[in-house]
Amino acid sequence: MLVLSSPSGAGKTTISRELLRLEGNLMMSVSTTTRPMRPGETEGVDYNFADEVTFQKLVDDGGMLEHAQVFDNFYGTPRAPVEDALAKGADVLFDIDWQGTQQLAADKATGDDLVSVFILPPSTEELESRLHRRAQDSDEVVRQRMSKAADEMSHYQEYTYIIVNEVIDQSVERVRAILAAERAKRTRQVGLHDFVQNLRGAE
Ligand code: 5GP
Repeated sequence: MLVLSSPSGAGKTTISRELLRLEGNLMMSVSTTTRPMRPGETEGVDYNFADEVTFQKLVDDGGMLEHAQVFDNFYGTPRAPVEDALAKGADVLFDIDWQGTQQLAADKATGDDLVSVFILPPSTEELESRLHRRAQDSDEVVRQRMSKAADEMSHYQEYTYIIVNEVIDQSVERVRAILAAERAKRTRQVGLHDFVQNLRGAE
């Protein structure tokens, strides 16, 4: 379970897209949200869009692995697709905030498997200009997101890996290096005991 968190505009979405393109056996967890769809977004690809009643019912039924309020909207990770992917041996990429990461880290069932990466922008100016360039949000929303970015970034210490996203390709390669190292961990390799026994020619 590979979590990428960052303030909006730090480049996390681009990094995620590149990772999915370049990495085999990695699937994106598609979150459910109550926020309105932005231009260019696709239902079921970027998010599952839901009203608050539907969202709350999913939470009440235990259908969310984690959920949180971000700005004025609710966001959550549907449980079933993640559990299915992990059971098939796939790795799962999450674009969730610090609240969701805390919940996954605290949960016994998910905490041990979690690899958390926090993406920082190179500077405040760059963050602001990226939010404006994106131009999907109103000036008011950009202001709101800038003021939230400081809060979001105060949680960097809760993450194992930190990447300052100056050059996108380098950041992608850093996340891929993290993924490769984590995949190589002894404890993550299924069937290793039998494999080594076989190599040793043991009965
Ligand atoms: P946006 O509205 O810009 O797509 O996302 C706003 C924030 O919500 C981002 O920081 C994103 O990581 C976070 N987010 C998206 N999906 C989820 C989710 O399922 N759970 C949690 N906890 N945060 C999410």
